Amino acid sequence: MGSCFSKKRTLVVPESDSLKDALGSDLFFPDQHQFVESCVPQAFSFRSPIMNYIYDNPSSPEVYQKLIRSCKIFYLKNPILVIQNLSYIHGKGWRYCIEDECLGNCAKCKEIKMESIQGKIWLAKTFRVCTCPFTDEHSNLASTFIPKIYRYNANELIIYQQKLSYNDLKFLSTGVKECFLSCFVVKYDNGEKVSHEDIIKFFSSDTKISK
Ligand SMILES: [Zn+2]
Repeated sequence: MGSCFSKKRTLVVPESDSLKDALGSDLFFPDQHQFVESCVPQAFSFRSPIMNYIYDNPSSPEVYQKLIRSCKIFYLKNPILVIQNLSYIHGKGWRYCIEDECLGNCAKCKEIKMESIQGKIWLAKTFRVCTCPFTDEHSNLASTFIPKIYRYNANELIIYQQKLSYNDLKFLSTGVKECFLSCFVVKYDNGEKVSHEDIIKFFSSDTKISK
């Protein structure tokens, strides 16, 4: 595999700047256009169908992150943001975190603006949506987030003050091993409420459920 990094444009620093200047305050994150401009064509040793399969089917978040670090084309072909813990906390908005035991409000949590994300999200561990009070404005945040998901590998689901459809909860419960549900409503497409007995059926028998 060849490198895809431009020799002069990787850090998007003006070419006339000295190394000292480049390492100073002039460093900045490239925007989408600058990022694309900094890439150069690649000649991989595999045929296009094989490369397309590799682009589209990373086997794990770890493999995907190694691929995009090795070559920008893997991100351009399949732009994904891998997030371990994603939370929406009332009054704080969407936040992500790398801490395993994070409850959505630790010192390492960082704000994330959903509207600025270019690609999709690979959710790797925890999905938490806690809104309060129960307002129509925020009561469907968990549902509206689903179209942004590339893959959902969350094993921990926390839902508080949300309205969900039957299919939304079916999706969000997949693979979950620990779940907290409170002050929530789940409805079929015809508006009829889904019973608690039927909600429990979404989860596997070894899932720890609390409310
Ligand atoms: Zn945190």
